[in-house]
Amino acid sequence: MKAMVLKAMAPVEQEPLVMMDVPIPVPGPGEILIKVSVCGVCHTELDEIEGRLPPNLPIVLGHEVVGRVEGVGTGAEKFKRGDRVGVAWIHSACGGCPFCREGNENLCFQFKGTGCQANGGYAQYTTVSEDFAYPIPDRFSDSEAAPLLCAGAIGYRDLRLSGIKRGDVLGLFGFGASAHIVIQVARHWGCEVFVFTRSEEHQNLARQLGATWAGKPDDPPPRKLRCAIDFTPVGETVPAALRVLERGGRLVMAVIRKRTQIPAMDYAELLWHEKEIKSVANITRADAQEFLPLADKIPITPHVLEFRLEEANEVLLRLKQGKIQGAAVLRTPD
Ligand SMILES: [Zn+2]
Ligand SMILES: [Zn+2]
Repeated sequence: MKAMVLKAMAPVEQEPLVMMDVPIPVPGPGEILIKVSVCGVCHTELDEIEGRLPPNLPIVLGHEVVGRVEGVGTGAEKFKRGDRVGVAWIHSACGGCPFCREGNENLCFQFKGTGCQANGGYAQYTTVSEDFAYPIPDRFSDSEAAPLLCAGAIGYRDLRLSGIKRGDVLGLFGFGASAHIVIQVARHWGCEVFVFTRSEEHQNLARQLGATWAGKPDDPPPRKLRCAIDFTPVGETVPAALRVLERGGRLVMAVIRKRTQIPAMDYAELLWHEKEIKSVANITRADAQEFLPLADKIPITPHVLEFRLEEANEVLLRLKQGKIQGAAVLRTPD
């Protein structure tokens, strides 16, 4: 099969993904073999490629996988050949540790990320345990469904952990694949949303999707924020967000890694008055299982740009440069 393989970490400008012919994986006990239709492109892949989140090498990246079941391993019985399924960032967790037993499998010490510790969806085929695959609601095309699996599902987790309630003001810092879905859920929940992003194109998309205010990261918003979610890869956003957070408000940090340090912060000015900072790590299966039907019900309209799998390097570079509106997906050759 064809796969875009990362053999060594390098800046994405050096086009480190290489199209290769590799054997089609064989599904083990309890696993399914998926013929991949599309795979979404996520910011986390930049962290893997550039070494901020080192993957097992060589690796097939990609953790927003949509495809059809092509075969099943022994004992796998949840899906049949031809079923449309998705795979998300959580590829497996041990199931037995205290975190797993309490429903926090995202924090499992043996957590494996799709396309990080196990091969993912930048390929014609992939395998996963049937317990870590999800049916895709009919409403969504393959391309529309892909960003729901990480950008959407983890965005939903960000929103839940922010503690936002109906009528509250939510601030979104950065407006990429995840934020453009999060805003639609937040509007559905009756929240007012302010969006902070440098890109005027992203500000326009934000207004189109229901933001009542959109400005640059340092612009003063009309009111203070009850909750903020930081999707940006830079540390400077943290003090900027805390500055416009209401007393008792919470800042959720949505990214796995920051490219730059969080600057030293003045406690009295930025943190006192019971402000909180919370990071989000990975997702649980429950996040995806709850979010996909919610996305169907709202319904979420993903803005998707489709590319060919062999264009992965280019697309990742555009993502790094902030030049993707909404979400990018890679279509796999037949
Ligand atoms: Zn992701
Ligand atoms: Zn565990």
